[in-house]
Amino acid sequence: MKHIKFALTALLSATLFFNANATEPVLYQYSTIDALLAGSYDGEITVEELSKHGDFGLGTYNKLDGEMVVIDGFFYKMQGNGVLVEVKKSDMSPFAVVTNFKPNSQYELSDIKSLAELEKKISSTLENTGIFQAIRIKGDFDEMTTRAISPQEKPYKPLIEVSKTQSIFHIGKTKGELIAFRSPAFVKGFNVPGYHWHYLSDDRKSGGHVLSLALSKVNVKISDISDVQLKIPTSKAFSAVDQSIDRSKELHIVESARKP
Ligand SMILES: [Zn+2]
Repeated sequence: MKHIKFALTALLSATLFFNANATEPVLYQYSTIDALLAGSYDGEITVEELSKHGDFGLGTYNKLDGEMVVIDGFFYKMQGNGVLVEVKKSDMSPFAVVTNFKPNSQYELSDIKSLAELEKKISSTLENTGIFQAIRIKGDFDEMTTRAISPQEKPYKPLIEVSKTQSIFHIGKTKGELIAFRSPAFVKGFNVPGYHWHYLSDDRKSGGHVLSLALSKVNVKISDISDVQLKIPTSKAFSAVDQSIDRSKELHIVESARKP
């Protein structure tokens, strides 16, 4: 009897161990942020392919057409004209980061006055800042300002030039979700160090790359990620990008700057 009990326990723990491995979230990224900054706006990956690697994420679409927001397996595009649409499976992306969202912690937050305050609060709760986090925040926002970029024509200009023509949306009071990644400092060159926030309203009418916000009451879900898969484009446009340039200053301006 003792033997049977032991065997059963061993079997159970083996099953649990297997499941834990099977559900380990992976951050799947297509191309690099530096290639995007340099004007590599046409990728070879489809939304269909991206959806095999994640149900949650962010990025942009070919020609730099709008802001990608991925939530619960649905791929949305906040366009420069202010209209949010669901995209086709055949649409393509030059830069995207997705994961199958599996939160390992959650908590409530209220009365946050700025993006900087939100980032500070979240950072103070993180046990490990040396890995990635996918962050999903749902609730009521007092203020939300986003941006989106309209499709570009060849020859493509660098992102720092193009971002001067971005559309800014003052969404104001809104209910919805933030879709974000926090990346460790060592990602410089291939992803955005620190936080990268996109937004999608519950009515699926607005969203985009977040420039500023204030929130009244939200639920925060965080998924720690220590596995990364980088898909490198094999296109000539990607290989022609000068990877030796430090573009971190450009990135900071592009990610956070408002229109003058
Ligand atoms: Zn963005």
